[in-house]
Amino acid sequence: MRNLGKNSKVGLKFILDTMLGNLLTWLRLLGYDTLYWHGERDDELLEVSRSEGRIIITRDRRLHSLASKSGAESILVVATETVEALKTLQEKLGLKMFFNPDKTRCPKCNTLLVKTSVTPQKWSCPGCGKTYWKGRHWKNIEKVLGELDRHEV
Ligand SMILES: [Zn+2]
Repeated sequence: MRNLGKNSKVGLKFILDTMLGNLLTWLRLLGYDTLYWHGERDDELLEVSRSEGRIIITRDRRLHSLASKSGAESILVVATETVEALKTLQEKLGLKMFFNPDKTRCPKCNTLLVKTSVTPQKWSCPGCGKTYWKGRHWKNIEKVLGELDRHEV
């Protein structure tokens, strides 16, 4: 596990490269401030990482080595399957993978959601106006989280 100094792991911020779009929803759901990089220029990505204190998560070995050389914190994810990719983040960052209903982010726009109802649990997004609730898809989310929980190191 890396020593991340004073950073609280819960407060970690990320910038995801475009090849890892499947992780975006997950990281935001778990409350992590995650930016999805749409730009083409690696130097701009490095600059955003630096100025906003975001850890780069990438599948691009070239970008990963460029980032590491420039002193940016970067995690290389080679797994293509979502659960395996999340396990990589657990292993390399000691990232906590649990759902906190009071600290979850909009999958669409990254804004912290506001809880609007406790039973059933519902949230709304002050950023884009979307509403969310624990629907049928939640079973799958819990299954994945259970798997990650067992994996925790
Ligand atoms: Zn939103």
